[in-house]
Amino acid sequence: MIITVANQKGGVGKTTTTINLAAACANKGRTLLIDLDPQANSTMSYVDARSVTKSMYDVLVSEELDFPDVIIETPVPNLFLAPSRIALAKLESKLIGDLDGPFRLKDRLKNTVNEYDYIFIDTPPTLGMITVNALVASTHVLVPIQSSYFALEGTDDLLETIEKIKARPNPNLQLAGVVITMHDKRTTLAKDIHDQIGHVFGDRLFNTVITKSIRLEESPAYKESIFTFAPKSSGAMEYYSLSEELLSRV
Ligand code: ATP
Ligand code: MG
Repeated sequence: MIITVANQKGGVGKTTTTINLAAACANKGRTLLIDLDPQANSTMSYVDARSVTKSMYDVLVSEELDFPDVIIETPVPNLFLAPSRIALAKLESKLIGDLDGPFRLKDRLKNTVNEYDYIFIDTPPTLGMITVNALVASTHVLVPIQSSYFALEGTDDLLETIEKIKARPNPNLQLAGVVITMHDKRTTLAKDIHDQIGHVFGDRLFNTVITKSIRLEESPAYKESIFTFAPKSSGAMEYYSLSEELLSRV
């Protein structure tokens, strides 16, 4: 099972969702976290950026490196990381115009897929070649939507991209679901937003809602998942519940 976490809107909780869902799944089986964002936030959530010498960029651009060559351990037992670094930003232009551009990740991953029970891919806030590579290689896509007045703006483009990829390069791709993040249950606006997103996505909206929690912001600085950093926090409980819901759907 390969799950891409995508939303071309910036700062909606993609990375926070990816790193913590990956940690939850690592408790159940061998898990790989692939960081495809040049910002390398997922990478830096678990390892020191200076320790990254080879990254996904090298795998996707050069023929010399095999996928397993870049995979490193994380402090989370059973969770492995294919890291990113800023060089990945150059990938976009390298892949455009290449006939196999959209298929590069899928191709590089094929001998590694069976070694992991769960693979999660964190993507940048764009719908460019990097995100397309992730969607082409995946079985599922999970979309975090930030609880805000403009929450649904842009989701049409994302859904259209998913449909296009399903139509041709990857008919197996499924929308695992949409999760509301950074929710503030106290406001009436938040309730309206929840209703509105529920109306659009129906049963594709996860029942679990991720509320605002300072602990979720803090844990990456300590290179820990929310489950060891603040096991009793709302964030830990909600991401655990989301992982259960996700695994029951896929
Ligand atoms: P980008 O598009 O830049 O990659 P992103 O979609 O990956 O962003 P995150 O980095 O996960 O978004 O989150 C943006 C910011 O909001 C981060 O500082 C993160 O710590 C914080 N954040 C994410 N989820 C929550 C939450 N539930 N409660 C409080 N803060 C959160
Ligand atoms: Mg991110």
